[in-house]
Amino acid sequence: MTVNNELESSIRQIGEELARLSGGQSPTLFERRWWSQAAINLAMHNLDFKTRLFRFIDVLPSVTDDQRVVTLAQEYFGSMAAQAFGLGWGLKALAATGVGARLSGHAIRAQVEQMARTFIAGSSAGDATPVLKHLWSEGKAWSVDLLGEATISDQEADRYRDRCLQALETLASAVQSWGRMPLLEQDHTGAVPRVQLSLKISALSPHLDPIDPEGSFESVAQRLRPIVDAAMRAPASLIFDMEQAETKALLMMIFTRLFMEPAYRTFAHAGLAIQAYHRATTQDIETMLTWVRQRGTPVTLRLVKGAYWDSDTIRYRQRGWPVPLFEDKSETDANYEALARKLLEASSVIRPAFGTHNLRTLAYIEAVAGQLGLSPSTWEYQMIFGMAEPFQEAVLRRGRRLRLYTPVGELLPGMAYLVRRLLENTSNESFLRKEFVESQSLATLLAPPAAVPPKRHVAASSGFRNEPLRDFSAAESRAAMQVAIDEVKGQLGKTWRSVAGGLTLSGPLMPSYNPSRPEEIVGIVHTAGAADVEAGVRRAEQVWPAWRAMPAERRVEIVRAAAALMRSRREAFAAWEVLECGKPWREADADVAEAIDFLEFYGAEWLRLSEPRRLGQEPGELNHRLLEPRGITAVIAPWNFPLAIPTGMVSAALVTGNPVLFKPSERSPIIGQLLAEILMDAGVPDGLLLCLPGGPEVGRVLVRHPAIVTIAFTGSKNVGLGLLKETSTVAPGQRMVKRVIAEMGGKNAIIIDETADLDEAVAGVIASSTGYSGQKCSACSRAIVHASVYDLFLKRLQEAVASLRVGNPEDPGMQVGPVIDERAQATILDYIKIGNQEARVLVEGRVTQPGWYVGPTVFVDVPATARIAQEEIFGPVLAVMKAESFDEALTLANSTEYALTGGVYSRSPANLDLARERFDVGNLYLNRPITGALVNRQPFGGHRLSGVGTKAGGEDYLMQFVVTRIVSEQTLRRGFAPAE
Ligand code: NAD
Repeated sequence: MTVNNELESSIRQIGEELARLSGGQSPTLFERRWWSQAAINLAMHNLDFKTRLFRFIDVLPSVTDDQRVVTLAQEYFGSMAAQAFGLGWGLKALAATGVGARLSGHAIRAQVEQMARTFIAGSSAGDATPVLKHLWSEGKAWSVDLLGEATISDQEADRYRDRCLQALETLASAVQSWGRMPLLEQDHTGAVPRVQLSLKISALSPHLDPIDPEGSFESVAQRLRPIVDAAMRAPASLIFDMEQAETKALLMMIFTRLFMEPAYRTFAHAGLAIQAYHRATTQDIETMLTWVRQRGTPVTLRLVKGAYWDSDTIRYRQRGWPVPLFEDKSETDANYEALARKLLEASSVIRPAFGTHNLRTLAYIEAVAGQLGLSPSTWEYQMIFGMAEPFQEAVLRRGRRLRLYTPVGELLPGMAYLVRRLLENTSNESFLRKEFVESQSLATLLAPPAAVPPKRHVAASSGFRNEPLRDFSAAESRAAMQVAIDEVKGQLGKTWRSVAGGLTLSGPLMPSYNPSRPEEIVGIVHTAGAADVEAGVRRAEQVWPAWRAMPAERRVEIVRAAAALMRSRREAFAAWEVLECGKPWREADADVAEAIDFLEFYGAEWLRLSEPRRLGQEPGELNHRLLEPRGITAVIAPWNFPLAIPTGMVSAALVTGNPVLFKPSERSPIIGQLLAEILMDAGVPDGLLLCLPGGPEVGRVLVRHPAIVTIAFTGSKNVGLGLLKETSTVAPGQRMVKRVIAEMGGKNAIIIDETADLDEAVAGVIASSTGYSGQKCSACSRAIVHASVYDLFLKRLQEAVASLRVGNPEDPGMQVGPVIDERAQATILDYIKIGNQEARVLVEGRVTQPGWYVGPTVFVDVPATARIAQEEIFGPVLAVMKAESFDEALTLANSTEYALTGGVYSRSPANLDLARERFDVGNLYLNRPITGALVNRQPFGGHRLSGVGTKAGGEDYLMQFVVTRIVSEQTLRRGFAPAE
C-alpha cells in the first residue's frame, strides 16, 4: 500500500468509528422544534425562500411591535407564510387583525428568540456560567465569544474592553470551584487555563483600518493590554478571532507585535485563528512559526475554514479585486488538511487547535496525529456551541479534548452571528447538511476533497470595467502612495506653464494653497483674461475642422491613451489631490479611478454611437442618423472632485469632436492643469483644448461668448441657474442656441426606519455625511429617523461622530480632513450658528489645529423648514429629524427643492418598494452609503433644482455634445431601388 492509500484507509476506519460514536443523534440546528418540516424542506431546496427566511429571522429581534412582526412576515413570505411554517410559528392568525395578529407576532418573535438562545449561552458571562459549568461537567472546555454590535465609537470599544475584563473576572472566579478535568487542563506544553476568551479585535477600536497599521495598533493595543494583564492574572487564554480578509495582515501584525512586548512575551496562552480558505495561509503559518520560535513561548494556532467566505468574495468581486480566497469549498478542505498536518508537525512549538464540524476532517487529523505518534493531549478540537452535537459526542468518547466556541451576549446583536451560522450550515457545501439533511453515504462523506479541475481561462470581457480602487490593506499600495506624497511635496510652490495652445495668458498669477496648512503654496498658475478667451476661441476655430474630420476611432484612441497615462501616474495624481484639496487617501484615489473610468467609458460609448445608424427597414428609403459635434464647448468645473468631474466633461466634449475651453475651479487649478497636460500628452492637438484658469470672471466671459455653444457646468445651484438665465438670450453674432448642462447641488437625506440594521445605518450616515468633510454634492446632510429607533440611533451617532479623527489627510489615519478654504470654512461656521438657533446641537465639532478645519457637527430635532434642513451647506454638518412613519419620512425627504441623491436603511421589503416608487431623487441608494457613484454602474445626476442634463457616466451623456442630423434618401428611381 502506498503512504497515501494507507492514510486514506486509516481515515476511513477512524471516520467509521467516529460515525458509530456519534450514533443516531441529529444536530440541534435541524431540530423540528425550530422549523416545520415544510419550512426546512423549502429552505434547503429553494434559495430564494432561504434568503427570505434568514433575512426575516435577522430583522425580527429589532422589531418590538408584535403587529409589525406580522406585517413583516407577510412582506417577506406573502401567502406562503402560514403554509411554510404552520402552527409552530404562530402564523395561523396572520390574516387576522387585532388580537390574533398580536398573538401571532408574539409567538413568532418568541420562537426565534428561543432558537437564538440555543446557540447563545447567556446574555452575559455571569448569566452563561451555569451553562458553561454544565459543559465542563460533561468534559467539554469552552471559549467564550462576547457578541456585540459593530464597534463604531471609542465608547463602544471601551465598553467591549470592559465586558472582556468583566467576563474574565467573573469566569475566573466561577471556575475555581469546578472539579478537575485532567484532559482539559493539561497539554503537551503545560497547564491549560479553564477560562478561554475569543476576542473580536475589530470590536476594540473604531479606528481599526488597514490603511493605517500604526494608528490601528495603538488604538487596539491600549485596550488590549489591560485584557492581557487580566488574562495573565486569571489565568485565561486569549484567542484572536480572524475577521474580514482586508484585516488579516493587520491582525497578525497586532498579535505578533503585542505578544513580543517584554511584559507579554512569556504569556503562554495567546492564540490566533487561521482561516484555511485563504490562499496565502501556508505562508502565514510559516511566518507565525518563525515568529513563535523567536519568541520562545508557545501560542495556540486555531485552524478554521473561515466564516466570511460569502461576504469577502462578494465584496472583492464588487470592487474588481482579485479574490484572495479559494473559490471551491473542496480546495479549502484540501488546504485545511495540508495545514492541519503542518500544525501537528509543528506541535513542539505551538498548541494546535482545530475548528471543524466535518467528519472527514476529524478523521484526517486523527489519522495524521497517529502517523506522527502524537499524544492526544497535543491538540484539541473546537466546535460551535449548539451545533454538530453528534460529532462533539464522538470526539469526547474517543477521549479527545474538545472546546466549544460559545457565544455570549444579547440576542439582538447576536442575530448577525446566528444568521451567519445558519447560512453556513445549510449551504450546499455544508458537511452537516450533507450528512444530516441529505443523508449522504459514509463513503462519500469520508472521501478525500475532490480535486478541482484547473479553471478554464475565461478571457476578460472586452466591455467596460470600472477601474478598481486601490486596496490599501496591501503594504505596496500604502508605500506607493507615501512615496508619491513625498515626491509631490518636493515640487510644491512652482509656477506652472500654461496649457493654452501657445497663448500667453494675461491674467494675474494665482497661488493655490494647501487647506491643511494654509501657509503652504501648492503651486502658482497663470490665469486667463477676457482677451485670452477671445484668442482661445479663434485658436479653437482654426484647429476644429481637422479634429471633427478625424475618424472617431482616432479620437477614442487619444482619450484611451490619456486613461493609460493617468493609470501610470495614479498615485501622483492622488497625492496632488491630498495636498491641493485636502482629500483623504481613499477619496483621492477614488477620484483618479473615476477619471480613468470616464475616459474609458466615453471612449467606448463613442465607438458605439458614432457609426451612422440606419433607421427603419422599409424598402425604397434610406434613413440615416448622423451625430455631429455641436461646436466650441466651455467646461466650467468645481473643485470637489477636482480630476474626475472635469475629466468627464472635457473628455465627453473632445471625443465627440468638439474643441474645449476648460476652466478648472480656482480652488483646484493645479489638478486642472495636470488634466490638461495629460490630454495633450495623449495626443489632443495643440489649440483644441485650452486650459484657462481663473475665477467666476473667466467663467462669465466663457458663458457669454457668442461662439461658445455648449456649456458643461458642474457647481452650485445659484451659479448654475445664473448660467441658464444668462444663456437664454441670444447675443449679437450668436448663431446657435446655447446648451447648458448644469449639474448642481443637493440636500440629500437618508431615511432610517424601525427595521434598519443600526450598525450599518449609523456607519452609512457617517460615511455619507463626513466623507471628504461633507463636500460632495451627493453627501448626506439630513438623516430622517423613525421615532421608535430615534434615541438609540442618536446615542450611537453621537459617540461615533465624536470618535472621528479630524486632521491632516496626509496621515492616512485621519478620517476627516479640512474644508477647501477659508471662505468655505466661514460659510459652514455661519450655518452652524444658524443651526444652534434652529435646533439642538448633538455634536459640535471643535477643532483647535490651524488649517481650514470644521469638526463634524450634528443637529437633532431639526424642524423640516429650518434653513439647515433646506439649504445646501457643503460641509460636515448633519441635520437629524424624527418621523412617526415611513410615509412621513418620505414626505420630509422630498421636501426640499433638490433631487440629487437619497438613501434608505430598512429591512422591510414593503418600505424599500415604497422608496423606489416615491423617493424622488436622481440616485437612490438602499441599505448603503449614498456617495461614491460608479461610472456605468450608477450613472449620476439629479433633477428638480439639482440639475439639467442626462446622467454623467451614463449611456445618454455624450448625446448632449452633438447635434443629430437625419438624412433620408428616396432610393426608388424609375421604378427600381438598389438591392439591399
Ligand atoms: P461653484 O458654483 O462656486 O463653482 C463652480 C465653477 O463655476 C467654478 O469653476 C467657478 O469658478 C465657476 N463660477 C462661479 N461663478 C460663476 C459665474 N458667475 N459664471 C461662470 N462660472 C462661475 O461651485 P463649487 O464650490 O466649485 O462646487 C460646489 C458645488 O458644486 C456644490 O453646490 C455641489 O453640490 C456642486 N456639485 C454638483 C455636482 C453634481 O454632479 N450635481 C458634482 C460636484 C459638485
